[in-house]
Amino acid sequence: NGPETAALVAGGVVNVADFPKPGIQFKDLTPLFADGETFHAVIDSIVEHYTDADGTLAFDTVVGVEARGFVIAAAVAYAARVGVVAVRKAGKLPRVAHSAAYDLEYGQAVLEVSEGAFVAGQRVLVVDDVLATGGTAEATLDLVERAGGVVVGFTVLMELAFLEGRKRLPGRSVHALWTV
Ligand code: AMP
Repeated sequence: NGPETAALVAGGVVNVADFPKPGIQFKDLTPLFADGETFHAVIDSIVEHYTDADGTLAFDTVVGVEARGFVIAAAVAYAARVGVVAVRKAGKLPRVAHSAAYDLEYGQAVLEVSEGAFVAGQRVLVVDDVLATGGTAEATLDLVERAGGVVVGFTVLMELAFLEGRKRLPGRSVHALWTV
């Protein structure tokens, strides 16, 4: 964690102008995912952030938001030896329990979670690649809690602070490895 992790994330991002729409600066993290040592260090730093001095983990399961969140969530869950839950875009899950409509930086979408995704009271860490306007995170955290989970944290690799996504997540523990 700290400046070293921020530098790893910064070194793994390519800024793509005008994707997927004019005016959007798309933060492409595929170089970070493609580099084994960087990916490993970034994932370990997330697990460490939620592990206390005794080695006790603060979460029981990990949620990833479709699609890049899945890559991060699965790796964090594996490293922490917990399970992983996918929050998916509309129409992908065969047994939908809850759904949430939301706005994002470049459009609108619906997120869904499966029946039986969480044991009531289960402590959930939610992860995604980028925090932009916060709409995705707000909808996801709401969905997780409607499904019986208790959100203990929301982690992103990169936060676009100028979009003020945190304002949509009052009272939430938000952790960004790199903030611009
Ligand atoms: P938002 O709901 O506005 O916070 O957007 C967050 C979601 O959209 C995340 O799942 C990101 O993967 C994606 N996203 C939004 N804006 C960007 C961006 N500028 N670069 C890369 N991904 C983005």
